[in-house]
Amino acid sequence: MTEGTAADWDIIVIGGGITGAGILREAVNRGYRCLLVEQRDFAWGTSSRSSKMVHGGFRYLASGNFKLTRHALLERERLISEAPGLVTRLGYFFPLYKNQFPPRFAARLLFWLYDRIAGIRNHHRVSNRKLSEIFNQINTTELNGAFYYTDAVTDDARLVLRVLQEATDAGGMVRNYSKATGLLRNGGRVTGIRLQDTGSDESLELKARVVINATGAWANRLAEEPEAGLTIRPQRGSHIVLCAEKFPVKDAIFLVHPRDSRRLFVYPWEGRTIIGTTDIYHPMDLDIAASITREELDYLLVAANQLFSESPPAENDIISTWSGVRPIITTKGSGDPSKASREHKVWVEEGMVSCSGGKMTTFHHMALDVIKKAQGFLPQVTPTGYTRMFEPVTASGGDVLPSDPATGEAILGRFGERARELLNHAAENEAVPLAGTGTCLAELRWSIMNEAVVHLDDLMLRRTRLGNLMHEGGEAVLDSIKPILMQELGWDEVHWSDELKRYRGIINQHYSVPGAVGSAPARPATP
Ligand SMILES: Cc1cc2nc3c(=O)[nH]c(=O)nc-3n(C[C@H](O)[C@H](O)[C@H](O)COP(=O)(O)OP(=O)(O)OC[C@H]3O[C@@H](n4cnc5c(N)ncnc54)[C@H](O)[C@@H]3O)c2cc1C
Repeated sequence: MTEGTAADWDIIVIGGGITGAGILREAVNRGYRCLLVEQRDFAWGTSSRSSKMVHGGFRYLASGNFKLTRHALLERERLISEAPGLVTRLGYFFPLYKNQFPPRFAARLLFWLYDRIAGIRNHHRVSNRKLSEIFNQINTTELNGAFYYTDAVTDDARLVLRVLQEATDAGGMVRNYSKATGLLRNGGRVTGIRLQDTGSDESLELKARVVINATGAWANRLAEEPEAGLTIRPQRGSHIVLCAEKFPVKDAIFLVHPRDSRRLFVYPWEGRTIIGTTDIYHPMDLDIAASITREELDYLLVAANQLFSESPPAENDIISTWSGVRPIITTKGSGDPSKASREHKVWVEEGMVSCSGGKMTTFHHMALDVIKKAQGFLPQVTPTGYTRMFEPVTASGGDVLPSDPATGEAILGRFGERARELLNHAAENEAVPLAGTGTCLAELRWSIMNEAVVHLDDLMLRRTRLGNLMHEGGEAVLDSIKPILMQELGWDEVHWSDELKRYRGIINQHYSVPGAVGSAPARPATP
């Protein structure tokens, strides 16, 4: 990826999550000169710690939010067709419970509508007996059959990276570890940003015709509140990662928690089984990555008992955990945030457009909304119709593909147009997936060389997901990765051991079982 520090930009985007990446891509498509800055690493915020579902949100349709569901379903279908290997259709089971909403006839209608909006027909009813054949330890008490339907999953951090890649290939500039510490103003109008390189501490001032604040849960730090009476409420959601051999699921299932009747998912992701999510007010310092608490962990394990009733997972079955913070735009002092709208909000002050809330799935739709508002501050360009987020990619006959076709397709999905270069330059022994994962050393080498990797955690937690998918953050593969980092980034032994210390600290504090040796102490869940 390229970097830029020139003084005059049409657009500066602050925030390197999926919202900022989508805006950058859309703006570059229209011919604007754009720079994106991210205070930590790309996708470091919520966008590497979501549930990773590209979905219409059946729950939103069931609660009457037709508009959000429609946008999300249309985006889901586009993403599946534009980014195969990265956004993949997945089967979901939605069990129906006696005396709980929705009753069977309403569910039938809602699933028909869900598919109809998306232009597909993929749903059907499933009996208790059939459901027990698929999930053979499921507790069928109070169960009234289920519906099967489809949504999709992705690797959220790679989705951000892929969108950034498309944007930089088309001329956009990006900088990670670069924090917008303040806004430049002329009178009241925002004219640019003050930027601090967090590695060197160097500061500079950059001017732009319009600044876009795409900082998610941080949006209130740089901008006024979205509108009188509205606030951004940070809500934490946590997940646990289990070994799929011991706790296998081929499709996702949408369980009801016995304690509070909240719906949550058990689903397959990258060869593991995931359980999530919780939904808890998170008034903590947002500059410290969120971590799961012991209470959340227990809550998720209790949910798992319904699916694995004969051999429920215990703490020592957990490979890793992750927590993300969702910015919910809500009225001050409002009630149950789980029920608050997941719609995004765009608001404007002179020279700056802010966008927060929403869903990863609808990032393109959000980008279009933002660009529409930003155009008031920009020279007019010829209006474009629907613009693609991703250029289509296929492997040619001469490409060296990993012997496992799924790995090959995933590499094409993750790296887009660059996958061909990656594969053709890969040494034979590096084009093989690392034990028990779908990631090859060739991908790591490519990311180190081309994707602005600064720290070991950038590589293990966002360029690849080895840190999420392997015990102890992937300790077992670090020895194979070390020589590549030394060779490509010139790290010496001292640098390596500093990075190792930093990485182990992050894994212990934010991606492990709370209370495990060296990890964060259990914190009480806040209301
Ligand atoms: C638990 C959970 C599960 C979810 N599951 C799903 C799901 O399955 N499907 C779905 O569609 N959506 C899901 N979402 C929602 C989705 O993840 C978010 O809507 C989306 O990731 C938000 O992206 P963002 O770019 O707006 O924010 P972020 O990803 O948080 O990006 C904002 C970035 O701004 C940076 N930043 C902040 N201040 C500055 C500054 N001063 N200078 C420079 N950079 C700055 C931050 O470091 C951060 O990286 C989930 C959310 C959560 C919390």
